[in-house]
Amino acid sequence: MATPVVDQELCVGCGSCVEVCPEVFELQDDKAQVIGPDKCHTCDCESAAAMCPAGAITIQD
Ligand code: SF4
Repeated sequence: MATPVVDQELCVGCGSCVEVCPEVFELQDDKAQVIGPDKCHTCDCESAAAMCPAGAITIQD
């Protein structure tokens, strides 16, 4: 299963990933946290990873 991981050092808290995948990501204290690593059933979170301006989201198999 592909699992998204957010680098807390790189995340700038823009919220883009939360808008795209609210089931997977949640902002907590201005940092994105992965709340549903298995909730993406469409793109394995590639969309969120691609749009993150900080390059903070990686997908681990
Ligand atoms: S899109 Fe990237 S920088 Fe923005 S909140 Fe999500 S992980 Fe953080």
